[in-house]
Amino acid sequence: MEKTQFSSIRILTVIIGKPSPSRLACLLLTMLCLPLVACQTIDATGERHLSLIGERQEIEMGETSNEDIITTMGLYEDESLQNYVQELGSRIAATTERPELPWTFQVVDDEVVNAFALPGGYIYLTRGILSHFDNEAQLAGVLGHEIAHVTAKHSVIRLSKAMVTQLGLGVATIAVPELQEFSSMLGQGMKLLFLKFSRDDETEADRLGVRYMQNVNEDPKELMNVMAMLGRISDTGKEGALPQWASTHPHPENRMDFIAGQIAGLEHRDFQPVERESYLQRLDGMVYGPNPREGIVREAMFYHPDMAFQLGFPAEWEVVNRRGAVLGMSPGKDAAFQLTFGKDKDPVGALQSFFGQTDINGLSSSNAPINGLPAASGEFRARTNRGEVQGLATFILHGGHLYQLFGYSPLRAWSQYDREIRNTANSFERLTDNRYLDIEPLRLKIITAESATSLKELHARHKTAIPLEELARLNQIDAEEILQPGRLVKTVTGQLP
Ligand SMILES: [Zn+2]
Repeated sequence: MEKTQFSSIRILTVIIGKPSPSRLACLLLTMLCLPLVACQTIDATGERHLSLIGERQEIEMGETSNEDIITTMGLYEDESLQNYVQELGSRIAATTERPELPWTFQVVDDEVVNAFALPGGYIYLTRGILSHFDNEAQLAGVLGHEIAHVTAKHSVIRLSKAMVTQLGLGVATIAVPELQEFSSMLGQGMKLLFLKFSRDDETEADRLGVRYMQNVNEDPKELMNVMAMLGRISDTGKEGALPQWASTHPHPENRMDFIAGQIAGLEHRDFQPVERESYLQRLDGMVYGPNPREGIVREAMFYHPDMAFQLGFPAEWEVVNRRGAVLGMSPGKDAAFQLTFGKDKDPVGALQSFFGQTDINGLSSSNAPINGLPAASGEFRARTNRGEVQGLATFILHGGHLYQLFGYSPLRAWSQYDREIRNTANSFERLTDNRYLDIEPLRLKIITAESATSLKELHARHKTAIPLEELARLNQIDAEEILQPGRLVKTVTGQLP
């Protein structure tokens, strides 16, 4: 969680059941009202499709969603890496059927292995996927694939169909999520990402992606190595390893045959070197895995080193750290606790204005400090479209920031959670433990094999912060494989408490 992001209003509207449509939803609703039905030939595919969205609207949608994505996920702070990805992406995009789009390529600060595209030419790669590539050609392959989703207008066609069948995405995005759903945390722009591409869309993006790689002389065989890498990660079955690719990019292994066929059909085979060493050097020092400076959970205790606070959740609860929020969920998913940032710096005033909302009934209030910090808290009842909830609202001032803590459950379950939620709110405290205050993220370190050696030996010799199997996946090799002297290898340094 980061202090620059503020999404509590959106969360609160979920509790009290009065969603305010985002700009994107408005835009979509406007388009629903003015359906200019038109058929359009897609240059990249030569196919004719129903399209209700013009290019200007498409770019506008991309721009709006881009703001949400930056707020929700954050960009990875490394200017030279960002410039490099933008430069390579632009070079590929310039050779496509839609060179005139405002192509924007960005690295988001997320450890999951993922890449995605928004309408209008907005392409994102996570630092997680960048750390798993072995060379520039692999990066080019994924960029080409994502660019193809845009040139083939997959989102635009999908949105147009949704409008016509009155599944209206605009309507779907403003529907109130259930109390249990963390999805309410996602910006509206993020929901555009959950528009699943079909298998056919993926095949088409692979086909066009191979062509785009060829356009810039990058070796398309590396796209197959990317598929193999993704397949290995999927095989670990690690939950959350591939949240997006798993849902929008099914079965990487099945796609390798198709890509091989496309490559076999290429006339031109004389590609430039894959740029392994220069690519890997760019990864040296990159943050690997979750960044603990933005919050870390250990035994139901949440620590935030940058903001210097800690918060203790009930032992069995699931705790999730998101940009702008920390969320806890009871095992039965019938109670939740969330921490977000407030706007002003007055806990008492914040509690009063919270109680002042329609549909919120204040039941009690106290201005007693919490662990020496200025605070105001009170129980409330709120009407939602899923029934009445009861909860505890707490506002705490710490380090110049107002923290808002809401614990709640359906009215009938409140007596069961009352005490746990109160204890959680009262556990908010200044962080003083140096083990957490001084914590540093794990980082990639690129080393050179000095003699013929296996990754297994290297792993044992250097104090590597991740298991051997994970290191092997990261390097796209087998643990037993012998590395020749001079070969660059990724390792991971650092240590988390
Ligand atoms: Zn795709």
